[in-house]
Amino acid sequence: MENMKFLKRLFQEYYKDRQKIFPKVNDMEKREFAFLQWDGNYMIRHLGFNSQDLLINYLINNAPKHMYSSASLYELPEASTMEEKSYIGCDLIFDIDADHLDTSCKEIHDFWECKFCKESGTGTSPKSCPKCGKTSFKKLNWICDVCLRKAKKEIFKLIDDFLEPDLGINKDLCSILFSGHRGYHLHVEDENLRKLSSNERREIVEFITGNNLSLKIFGFSESKGRISSFNQYNYGWPRKIMFKLKKILSLKDNSELKNMLMRYTFPDNLKDIQISTLIEEKEYLIENINYQKNMNWYLTNFGVKTWKDFLLELAKEIGVGIDIPVTIDIHRLIRYPSSLHGSSGFKVVEIEYKNLESFDPFSDPVIFSKKNLIKLEITVPKVPKIRVREITWGPFKMGEILDLPHDIGIFLLCKNVATLK
Ligand SMILES: [Zn+2]
Ligand SMILES: [Zn+2]
Repeated sequence: MENMKFLKRLFQEYYKDRQKIFPKVNDMEKREFAFLQWDGNYMIRHLGFNSQDLLINYLINNAPKHMYSSASLYELPEASTMEEKSYIGCDLIFDIDADHLDTSCKEIHDFWECKFCKESGTGTSPKSCPKCGKTSFKKLNWICDVCLRKAKKEIFKLIDDFLEPDLGINKDLCSILFSGHRGYHLHVEDENLRKLSSNERREIVEFITGNNLSLKIFGFSESKGRISSFNQYNYGWPRKIMFKLKKILSLKDNSELKNMLMRYTFPDNLKDIQISTLIEEKEYLIENINYQKNMNWYLTNFGVKTWKDFLLELAKEIGVGIDIPVTIDIHRLIRYPSSLHGSSGFKVVEIEYKNLESFDPFSDPVIFSKKNLIKLEITVPKVPKIRVREITWGPFKMGEILDLPHDIGIFLLCKNVATLK
């Protein structure tokens, strides 16, 4: 309780200090607002604000742990049922969460413990406990430079490889936000896109993720063991896949190329002999991709099935790792810009595309002082390393008592791995 009171007071100071510069989202009066309070952990939703002053007053009085507004616009956002709210339309939203991305750092910094027998391990929790078979775990999901860099890379892919070239959505229409914790959000506010139904959004999702890709409808056809019509002149996916293949095959160093190809582990992995064939014939293939409008390939040791598996595996790397339900759901609540994330104490930051590359998620969203100190005790078996601003802290062990600056201390309190001492 002490921890919560302390954090709430700090959040309150933050909202008070920023009241003059706190952002107002577009069409604010038509959006539903929702908040999670510090005690009880329940969501207060169906709130509407007719003015920025009312919103600021609410924030200063309540200093919520989490703050959201709807991606949708409603005639009556404060009504308690969807019918009464009267839906107008919904921004197009994408969410990229490091938690859903496949990164090797999870094995280093994530941790689980069985709630029943206390068996524990690193990485993502298993489906059921290997010791007692129960399925309920305490989890510690952490963040580091590796997973947040990967999440940022996915945002770049989303804009540069899909939204702009294929869907004609200019990057200036996209607002990019760091969520304050594990990833990035992208919003597109556009009158026409707001009209998209949930099913139409699902189609966009399928296109962007490359899920359920049919090579056949993109012109992949086979005749007598030869493959034809899958080429870089077909816009969309065939072109993306061919560019990817060309990029891989253009690796000058053959041993590097071999290592790269060995990563492709679809049900029947590329066999040694197939990898050798690809390396021997790389010039031939690149030439085909570059110049022949009607590609017609044949490679010894390469059946049509292997090609299909291989190309689909390349497609998986090209697709963007978005959190699918967020885009499809037209009644989604999303984090409010410049609000504080109660599970990290970091700020939700709006980032311009041109500043995305240099944006540092462990420094730019940090708002608490590096000068004021607090005394904390670590309350979980281990706390992985974490960088805040230019300093890397930890790892820490259960029971350690530390005098820490607010910038890292508040993060540990919000992550619920430490208590005030
Ligand atoms: Zn167990
Ligand atoms: Zn990580």
